[in-house]
Formats: sequence, C-alpha cells, structure tokens
Amino acid sequence: MSRSAHPAGPRHADVMTEGHYTAPPADLNALDPKVWARTVTRDEDGTVTVGGIEVTRLAEEFGTPAYFLDESDFRARCRAWADAFGRDADVFYAGKAFLSRAVVRWLQEEGLNLDVCSGGELTTALDAGMPAERIAFHGNNKTVAEIERAVTVGVGRIVLDSFQEIARVAHIAQRLGKRQRVQIRVTVGVEAHTHEFIATAHEDQKFGIALAGGQAAEAVRRALTLDGLELTGIHSHIGSQIFDMAGFEVSARRVVQLLAEVRDEHGVELPEIDLGGGLGIAYTSEDDPREPHEIAKALGDIVTRECEAAGLATPRISVEPGRAIVGPTAFTLYEVGTIKPLEGLRTYVSVDGGMSDNIRTALYDAEYTVALVSRTSDAEPMLVRVVGKHCESGDIVVKDAFLPSDLAPGDLIAVPATGAYCRSMASNYNHALRPPVVAVRDGGARVIVRRETEEDLLRLDVG
Ligand SMILES: *Cc1c(COP(=O)(O)O)cnc(C)c1O
Repeated sequence: MSRSAHPAGPRHADVMTEGHYTAPPADLNALDPKVWARTVTRDEDGTVTVGGIEVTRLAEEFGTPAYFLDESDFRARCRAWADAFGRDADVFYAGKAFLSRAVVRWLQEEGLNLDVCSGGELTTALDAGMPAERIAFHGNNKTVAEIERAVTVGVGRIVLDSFQEIARVAHIAQRLGKRQRVQIRVTVGVEAHTHEFIATAHEDQKFGIALAGGQAAEAVRRALTLDGLELTGIHSHIGSQIFDMAGFEVSARRVVQLLAEVRDEHGVELPEIDLGGGLGIAYTSEDDPREPHEIAKALGDIVTRECEAAGLATPRISVEPGRAIVGPTAFTLYEVGTIKPLEGLRTYVSVDGGMSDNIRTALYDAEYTVALVSRTSDAEPMLVRVVGKHCESGDIVVKDAFLPSDLAPGDLIAVPATGAYCRSMASNYNHALRPPVVAVRDGGARVIVRRETEEDLLRLDVG
C-alpha cells in the first residue's frame, strides 16, 4: 500500500536527519487545516471544536480512545469527487478504507458507488440499502460463496483477478442463469508510491493479470468466449498515497493500448476503464495532495488523448478513491497516561490506545502529527514519540512530533487524518476493545460504530 515495508520496531533517534521534524513548528497550538478535518478549529480562547462541539466534551461523553469523524467534511469530499468526475464517469468509494452503515447511506445520498472486497463488506453495503448495481466486487481470492452471493444479488461488476476466477465466475453465473458484468484487473507494470513511481518489474505481486507477455490479452480472449460473462472493461489500480499523476498516465496509456488490441483482434470496443484509487492525502503539513477536479481533469485528458491516438471512442472512466475521501475527515482522540523522558533521545508519551487502533505506523512506517487539544500551552516544545499500551516496542502511533513540555497525564491529544485504514484495520491485540467511531455534524454527535465491550470479547470465546 504505502511506502516500503519496514520491519516493526523502534528506530533510533534519527529524527534530526529524516527530514520531517528537523525543527518544531512555530506555534504548537496551531492546527494546520491541511491535516485536520474541515470543521476542526481552535477558538480564540484555545478551545478545540469539531462540528461545533468541544473535544473535551466529546471525550467526556464518548470516552477515549475514539475516532471522531466530521460528517459534513465526508459529504463535501464525496460531492467534490462526484462533481469533478461529472456524468460521464463513476466514482466508487473504496469501502475497505472505512465502512459502516452510516457511511453507506452518506454515499448513496451524495451519489457515489461503492467498492467492496469481502462478503462482510458486501453485507454491510446491502444492509444499509446500497443498490447492488452500484456495488463493485474486488479481491484476488473471492470465495465461491462470495461470488455466488455477489452474482445472486446482482452486483454491478465483479473485477476479475485471475484466470481461475474468470472460469469460476463464468461457471457460477451460468449455473445461476445470469450473465455477470465483469472487468479484468490488469497489472500495467507500474507501481506508484507517495512521491515517485517505478515503471519496471512490478508484476511480482499478487494482484491482477500482467499486460506483459500477453497475459491480459489472453484473459480478455477467454472472458469474451464465456456465456456467463459480459466483459465491460479493464481495471488498473497502481498503488496508494500517490501524489504524482505520472503513474496514472503510464497506467492509462497501457490500458488504452490493450483496448486497441482488443478491438483489432475481436472487433469489440470495451466501453469502460477503471483507473483505481490511491490518491494521496496530507498526513503532515509537508504533503500536498491534489484536488478532485485536478485529478479528474488530468485523468480525463490522458484517456481522451490516448483514445484519440488509438482511434477509439473514449470509454466511461471510473475511479475508486478510499483514503482521499475518508482519510482527512477523522482524528483519533487519546488520553495521555504516562510520560517518560529519555535523556538525550526523546520523550515517550503513552496513550490509552496504540497499534490496535492505528497499525499504519508499524506496518508502513506511516507519518502522522499530533496536537494537544484539551488546552493550550505556551511551554517549550519537546520532541516526543507517541506510543500505545501494547506489548510491542513497535507499538508507535506518531514516530516523531513535538508537544509542549508541560504535557501531563490526563491531557487529551489528537492524531489527525486517521479516517482511512485505522478503524478498518483495528485489532483486538492484547484484548484491546476497538474504539468507537463518532460522527459529528452541526453541533450534534452520534456513535456510528460503538466501542467494543469485554462482553463482545467473551461472546466469541466459546471454549
Ligand atoms: C485499496 C484500493 C482502492 C483504494 O485505495 P485508496 O488508496 O484508499 O484510494 C481502490 N481500488 C482498489 C482496487 C483497491 O485495492
């Protein structure tokens, strides 16, 4: 997904050479709007609010740790994507970033479609009333039961990921007396990451069917001959947390090239291409994400140009942002428990959550910022590492950041941009109780995913 795989475990005091936090920010009380959800503000008197509600009040009512999601920001981002892509394109929200029934209803109200990649995600989507035809089913190893269910309920598309799956879905659809609309996911030989993309040797991963060596062309050949399938297009997803459009450009060019080959060989112009998700967000003040309208324009221009050159009608484009919609809309609120200054190194600040509610730092070496939100402080900045309460030294939430040196147990600190891949990847490690997600909007707050309880844990333990 994100950067390099980094072995879990603490890094040494290399903060000063790593680039990001070489100096403390000018004002520790300032909340950079780039990384915080849109309605988060610090008032003149120092009070931090989201959706018009003080975070200290939210902590009292809902406890910590907890995720607070700015519903109006979420909806605004959905609308921005829908508007940017307009009527000639489709936006599918990638449910794996964060999915709940409330989210599914918001997506419907704002006109978005939905990607799912498991039976559980499909159930959540259907239960909240998402029409099946607006759902796309993904995954590199969908089970027979998942495929049967998806075909039976009539999902709008299944994205085929292997030769076996082409045969499997065709067989199941035929048995059920259906013709399933499908796309084929190809790997274009581009892998994009935050600030770069690499255009060689990326067939060495589990997703999709390689364009290289004629594999994808063979997949199309097979799909076109099977009665149970209606092949509508080609799908390509090149990575995550991408800022540079160059990777999408190569991807689009190669997908259009395949469409041209398909036309030449079969006399068929496939009507759709899906360019996947992966658009980056600001986790720190140094990240500069693109706006949806810029992305829509760039992708639209690339596809139009390539299709014109190949003599193809422009296909219907779809995109699948997950992180770019939900990521910036939430923050995690923690209470400080212990503070341990390590002479000459940094100060370890332990919070009441950790890798069970945010695994991204341990998993991807992800960067986050943090702020003291229960009060203001004029104290000197101190270099901190925010860690959790789990039995792993790699249990790090924020690797390097500055907090005021008068930080004390009981203070509330918040980590912004935790809307994507935090609750959805949360675990029960150490029998942690997964935190709630609270939606905040216009002075009101409501739990959309409740906090786990010890009874929830014991209910599964039937020994
Ligand atoms: C993960 C994924 C996405 C969403 O990625 P983001 O980085 O959250 O935008 C979209 N499409 C596919 C196929 C994915 O696997």
